[in-house]
Amino acid sequence: MLASKILVPTLRDVPAEAEIISHQLLLRAGFMRKAAAGVYTLLPMGYRVVNKIIKIVQEEMNKADGQELLLPIIQPAELWLESGRWHVYGAELFRLKDRHNRDFCLGPTHEEIITDLVKKEVSSYKQLPLLLYQIQNKYRDERRPRFGLMRSREFIMKDLYSFDRDEAGLEISYQKMFKAYTNVFQRCGLKFRPVEADSGAIGGNRSHEFVVLAGSGEAEIVYCEACDYAANVERAEAVYSAINEEDREKQLEKVVTPNMKTIGEITQFLQVSPEKCLKTLVYLADGKPVAVVVRGDREVNEIKLKNKLECLELELANDETVKELAGVPVGFIGPVGLKNVPIYLDEEASLVVNGVAGANEGDHHFINVNYPRDYQAQLVADFRLVGAGDPCPVCRGTLLSARGIEVGQIFKLGTKYSEAMEATFLDEHGKKQYMVMGCYGIGITRTMAASVEQNYDEKGIIWPMSIAPFQVVVVPVSNKDGEQMKAAQTIYRQLSEQGMEVILDDRDERAGVKFADADLIGYPLRVTVGKKTVQEGTVDIRVRRDGRELTVAIGQVVEEITALIERGL
Ligand code: ATP
Ligand code: MG
Repeated sequence: MLASKILVPTLRDVPAEAEIISHQLLLRAGFMRKAAAGVYTLLPMGYRVVNKIIKIVQEEMNKADGQELLLPIIQPAELWLESGRWHVYGAELFRLKDRHNRDFCLGPTHEEIITDLVKKEVSSYKQLPLLLYQIQNKYRDERRPRFGLMRSREFIMKDLYSFDRDEAGLEISYQKMFKAYTNVFQRCGLKFRPVEADSGAIGGNRSHEFVVLAGSGEAEIVYCEACDYAANVERAEAVYSAINEEDREKQLEKVVTPNMKTIGEITQFLQVSPEKCLKTLVYLADGKPVAVVVRGDREVNEIKLKNKLECLELELANDETVKELAGVPVGFIGPVGLKNVPIYLDEEASLVVNGVAGANEGDHHFINVNYPRDYQAQLVADFRLVGAGDPCPVCRGTLLSARGIEVGQIFKLGTKYSEAMEATFLDEHGKKQYMVMGCYGIGITRTMAASVEQNYDEKGIIWPMSIAPFQVVVVPVSNKDGEQMKAAQTIYRQLSEQGMEVILDDRDERAGVKFADADLIGYPLRVTVGKKTVQEGTVDIRVRRDGRELTVAIGQVVEEITALIERGL
């Protein structure tokens, strides 16, 4: 490919709209352009990378017995009504009507369509297991599309669905996918971790996320220093220990706390530590108020709360709503004597002896609050966010935390969809059974962005060889020098003939501009053809990742480059 012909509109300046590095660099290096909020065009360079990732994914899915097909993007509402998700999916679902006023949606994921297909086409245990996948655009009207391809409203996903006879079969399919995902992300050159994950609105009972470690990531994970435990904080289990320095319950007492609204103010004023305080937060769960009580030094894990409440929407109530409900400002609300609002009590908070809590009366708090002596709860469970420093739930070692980007997730769905949609098969005894399902997604475009987050320097992107848009760029220093151009063309042709993906920078630009673009775009290898080539018959090969330069004879270029690629640079 000739650089003068390919559409790579590089930019010198950082686009103002882009906050994180991958978003900035993919725009600057001419890999993509924005069409609307969260909607992007992939330019030739971007699409080449995407296709590289797709090829790796296809190879690994096929190796794990996946069969590729293509499901429709437009899906009829009836199927979503059947599964029960038409009303559950909420505002993220792009809904549309056809000319006959029939409801459709643009697929954000494809459990319904595929379950319907398999239920109609598969009837015997002999046809199972079945692993079907597709690679296609997905549509989600995200609340906050941002970071370019990282959280967009149209994006490319690989989604595979497994259909098994029983749980044991599902476990095998799940393990196959776990391994295939590990291979995919390894081959893409990413530093990642599989972590235990919440299974969220899709349901099911076991899930892992594959998280690429990056400071800009939206996912927060905790992992153990001492063992293999790693989990998304949304999911991470809290380990409880009571504070035992005083086990005798003292008498409940109301004290005056003028204007002391925050945990910080209260602890100072009453000279108590935050872990002795009970923090009460009011949420609206599908519009209904609920109170959550955690220790003063803890935060509420809204995902755990949402799962326990089995609600669709959960939001923190604003000050006015709290005042209306409890008759006091937020800072003075507490579990003792709280009326009309059910209390969801964090297990750790339930163990606090002689705690401090708002008295549901302006400028007053209770001291010596004890559960269950002084208040009751609708449910006592794990409602708190785990963080660095917490004990590991497996080995009691210390947890560390890190940020990352979720590039893939695998779920055990069980019979959730097959029951809702009546997807059954006949087992070896002729008995009807529900198919046992799993679903497995990889964000292809997000994976491209995640790779940039891990592979860049001040000059631009540094693509891993496996997903680079081109492996080598050949740069003649001066276009005007006919001999240089001829040598460059020969090298370009020889490398291409070896099956390498090569670009020849034949543009009539200064050498500095060509070098800067090569660094920005991130080709793993650059071959510079200059005066030396003409005079001494040598070229310089430069490795983008570490700046290494090798001077080799023209006749050796193909061999050297092949060796560099084989050695992984
Ligand atoms: P997130 O928590 O980041 O919203 P998710 O749990 O909704 O992700 P899944 O439904 O598991 O995502 O989708 C599978 C994969 O698709 C994700 O692991 C991610 O790589 C990708 N993905 C999901 N949402 C987006 C998006 N808005 N933009 C780009 N990729 C996405
Ligand atoms: Mg999502």
